Amino acid sequence: MKTLASSLIAAAFSVTASAGAQAQVVNLYTARHYQTDEALYANFTKETGIKINRIEGKEDELLERIKNEGASSPADVFITVDASRLEIADKAGIFQPVQSKALEARVPAHLRTPNWLAFSTRARVIVYNAQAIKAEWVQSYDDLANPRLKGQLCVRSGSHPYNLSLGAALLTHEGEAKTEAWARGVVANFARAPKGGDTDQLRAVAAGECGVALANSYYVARLMRSTKPEDVKDMAALTVVWPNQKSWGTHVNVSGAGVVKTAPNKANAVKFMEYLASDVAQVYFADGNNEWPVVKAVAVKNPALEKLGAFKADELPVEKWAPNTATAQKVFDRAGWR
Ligand code: FE
Repeated sequence: MKTLASSLIAAAFSVTASAGAQAQVVNLYTARHYQTDEALYANFTKETGIKINRIEGKEDELLERIKNEGASSPADVFITVDASRLEIADKAGIFQPVQSKALEARVPAHLRTPNWLAFSTRARVIVYNAQAIKAEWVQSYDDLANPRLKGQLCVRSGSHPYNLSLGAALLTHEGEAKTEAWARGVVANFARAPKGGDTDQLRAVAAGECGVALANSYYVARLMRSTKPEDVKDMAALTVVWPNQKSWGTHVNVSGAGVVKTAPNKANAVKFMEYLASDVAQVYFADGNNEWPVVKAVAVKNPALEKLGAFKADELPVEKWAPNTATAQKVFDRAGWR
């Protein structure tokens, strides 16, 4: 029979145990939310015993929230898409450097900065309607500024991170003056004032409203994998180009993450970052949004990505080009790319 004393001891133990368990958490602020995320996170908890608390939101809102919470922020890891957004977060001073041999060994050097890392990649591709456009007219980003495409180009806002990142990479390769001339040429070729997201541009090309567009590869892959009749019909009208295969390669952007400067659970945050670079997590993380893993040895089985095939990617270090985001915005503003 249990005595009162032994019950009290048992109760005290359970309190201690649960307080210990409560300490094993990691708080993620994430702008990514895909079907495979549940399995991605559940597997981390299974492997490490560390519970994941997730705050999901829009990219810019989450960054504002971390900034507003200041030193008392519970955020350990900030996950977002696009290098220019990660760069803006870094400039705002929200990250701290992470030293991890495992991450250095797994994530290629050109996809890391001291304060944040990429965990998957996406390409910014050219998509055209072969009824309106000749293949040889649209083989490079430079081609999009050629006057022979006057009235043919659909593209989203010049303030959007996807275009700013491309602009930042162009700036790094070719300098500010050439990039500004390019942006002016792009604006002069607009079929319409920029509106909507990348998928809207793809649909406009399919509908013949414009001849050519820029889009991130996962939007194309999403359309390719869709069985909805309207998507199948749209995709049948589109041809995808890997730009700049004869020069520095197709511009590649990232999804990535960094450890927050004030992380209350820093060690767990680093473990989570290392987990994201593991084989199993790379597949979940990348394939959840039809992206490519950063760890080269990891292969995803994704019919759309397989169909799109291999390409020469620009391997300009993200650490070099992402800081040019702010200049890219100024250049686009001057060129009238709203
Ligand atoms: Fe997107």
